[in-house]
Amino acid sequence: MEQDDKQIENKESAPKPVGGQVVEPDTQLSVMRQALKKNRNRQIQFMLNSCVNCGLCAESCHYYCADGNSEVIPANKIKKLSRVLQKYFHPVKSRLPGFQEIGQPDEQMISELYRAAYENCTMCGKCALTCPMGINTGEILYLARAMLCSIGRLPSGLVHPVETAFEVGNYLGLSTEDFVENIEWFAEEMGDEMEDENFSISVDKQNAEILYIPHPLEARDLPFLMMNAIKILHCAGENYTLSSYDFDTVNYAYYQGSKENMMQISQRVLDAREKLQAKNIALAPCGHGYRVLRWEVEKYQGKPFTFPPVLSIVELIDRYNRQGRIKLEKDKFDGPITYHDPCNIARRGGVLQAPRNVINALTSNFVEMQPHGPRNYCCGGGGGLASTGDFGQLRIKAGQKKADQIRQTGAKIVATNCFNCMTQIRDLSKAYDLGIEVKSIVELTAESLIL
Ligand code: SF4
Ligand code: SF4
Repeated sequence: MEQDDKQIENKESAPKPVGGQVVEPDTQLSVMRQALKKNRNRQIQFMLNSCVNCGLCAESCHYYCADGNSEVIPANKIKKLSRVLQKYFHPVKSRLPGFQEIGQPDEQMISELYRAAYENCTMCGKCALTCPMGINTGEILYLARAMLCSIGRLPSGLVHPVETAFEVGNYLGLSTEDFVENIEWFAEEMGDEMEDENFSISVDKQNAEILYIPHPLEARDLPFLMMNAIKILHCAGENYTLSSYDFDTVNYAYYQGSKENMMQISQRVLDAREKLQAKNIALAPCGHGYRVLRWEVEKYQGKPFTFPPVLSIVELIDRYNRQGRIKLEKDKFDGPITYHDPCNIARRGGVLQAPRNVINALTSNFVEMQPHGPRNYCCGGGGGLASTGDFGQLRIKAGQKKADQIRQTGAKIVATNCFNCMTQIRDLSKAYDLGIEVKSIVELTAESLIL
């Protein structure tokens, strides 16, 4: 009872997310103007004015590859934002007398912008690699998301998880007590499996080398995945800990377009490290979670962290394997095995070689998708689409290129390093009858460990 009271009190005193609430039509423009001011910079302004309509970006966008619809060519999606900016936020015209009384934004324009920013762009960044002008449509449409989020025009699947993360500390609403209880149960199970009655899982240990931040879905619904990660840390002899204060890699505020909300959620991870004085942070497989903590937070706060760069668990696995801290049985799984590069970990995160080193240590039958690495196609589940039930059919259509890529490899197993990508590729396998197994690289490693 005392605990319940404390949780209610915590929820009530928790800060509230910025934006995400519907704004009255007559104040929408002024609210959007504030969001524009906060999020526009010279680079975005330059990109907005640089398109030469060459069309080279079309084939790099998985949406366009799926149905050839010209509406979803990256350059045409940028135009949806340009039109809104020209009409309502022109730097000169908007200062003219009478302009401020323009009233409400045009509903059709806003709806088109919503579709371009949230439904038809996963912010994967692939089009930026083909644009001769260096235009990054994902970054530009992120500005559109920021403006739309400020007036509450965003997918429902990006509202509730952020509110819950603010109130409870993780997007699933898992209580600290339940988390700790689950970890105790995992420790018992793992101890039995490894025939080690002294086995325990470190929680809230001070001065550990690694603070491991899991995905809360692992802690609640997919315990075998979390046990796999812990097994690897244990077998490598890592001085690791979990935190009972923060156990959430996920940051759906990033996909909302709200940097303020993103920072608020990230701060919890940083505070957890600070409280425990852990030397470094390693993250469970989560593309956008990695992108945020490896790159976005430092960029937004304008200064680097005082601790080493945040790691994805795959980088740790690669390190352990190269240092001989873990031994892996080769070819335990029937191949071929292919690897899907999550956009936020590979192209937008820079982690390209580590997963390849790990997979090559696990199999002699690794086959690359074409293209792969930085030029890999998005699976279609990024940008927050996989978190929103409304986008099921859209995701499947947008993932057609990925399904083709997978089929062409002839792979039996698709390995990847992101929860959203795993969900999406499993859905693609069903929809396109790919006959594959989708596995986390953590799972493949843990099951190949020689104890
Ligand atoms: S960022 Fe990705 S999804 Fe968005 S327009 Fe470019 S290629 Fe398409
Ligand atoms: S490749 Fe770049 S310059 Fe060419 S149409 Fe696309 S966004 Fe415009």
